[in-house]
Amino acid sequence: MKREMMAAVLYGRENLRVEPVAVPTLGEGDVLVRVKAALTCGTDVKVFLRGYHARMIVPPAVFGHELAGDVVQVGAGVTKFGIGERVVAANSAPCHECYYCLRGRENLCERLLFNNGAYAEYIRIPARIVEKNTYRIPDHLGYQDAALAEPLACVLRGMEETGIRPGDTVAVIGLGSIGLMFVRMAKVWGTRVIALGRRRGQLERAARMGADELITVREPADALRTVKDLTGGRGADVAIEAVGTPVTWEMAAQMVQRGGTVNFFGGCPSDTRVTLDTSLLHYSEITCKASFHHTPAHIRRAIEVISQGSITARDFINSEEPLENLLEVMRYLMSHNGHLKTAILP
Ligand SMILES: [Zn+2]
Ligand SMILES: [Zn+2]
Repeated sequence: MKREMMAAVLYGRENLRVEPVAVPTLGEGDVLVRVKAALTCGTDVKVFLRGYHARMIVPPAVFGHELAGDVVQVGAGVTKFGIGERVVAANSAPCHECYYCLRGRENLCERLLFNNGAYAEYIRIPARIVEKNTYRIPDHLGYQDAALAEPLACVLRGMEETGIRPGDTVAVIGLGSIGLMFVRMAKVWGTRVIALGRRRGQLERAARMGADELITVREPADALRTVKDLTGGRGADVAIEAVGTPVTWEMAAQMVQRGGTVNFFGGCPSDTRVTLDTSLLHYSEITCKASFHHTPAHIRRAIEVISQGSITARDFINSEEPLENLLEVMRYLMSHNGHLKTAILP
């Protein structure tokens, strides 16, 4: 076993270095994984820009959280996985003991354990994640497909929380990889999907994912009018906000019909506020939801969905790059919203 490896270390705002660090040593129950694919994610770009994430990562720290690879070493007491096994590990695991876990809200766990360090040759998977949220990759799936489990799990949880039913009209605002996963899954669930985005390339992708109607968003008011026109003047049953700006949150709240549900899925910058029409929310009985993160059950379901071929790396990963290029990749992603994911191959 090597002592040193190359890994991306985040030092602060836009300060990221790919440098030699010690290969992590294992404690009881931990597993060491040789990373075969680490996927970039909108969250990573945000973290790179801001230099930290209140819950997920405090620099200096190894970086990256969507990964799949091979088990190359196991800590004392590990029986669940053997050397050479192909695995996908989630980036967190709940404690199953706290107030929220005991109420079935594992994503809100008070002691949610996060793991970072996917942009590296090796990553240590801590015992709790090995035990509760690491899975064998089905033989027919590639590493890049499997690594989509984490973002897809967030989406599946969002779908469930929103109570989407077959036959519903679902408006999806924002067509990055998360929005596009919503489009695809909403189609798989038998709904009619209205996709709203700003760029032509995004709308074309949404069409490939099965969107029934495409709306190019220039002015929110025009987009709202078009959604109403497409729904007999009523609005959508469900609106999913997958951008993360106050403007689009406000737009989403106005896009649903009486009794409709809005999911504020995209996290806005901290300290931002939105204005909501109280009469509209009250007299139209609008349900407002927000979804954060995922649970182990949703990671398992995501692997099943990927296994069935509904979500594939082909549709969500635009390019592959070696680890040394990570800084350029992050800079590129900052300025190219139309790009979905890059697979980093350390
Ligand atoms: Zn992610
Ligand atoms: Zn907990």
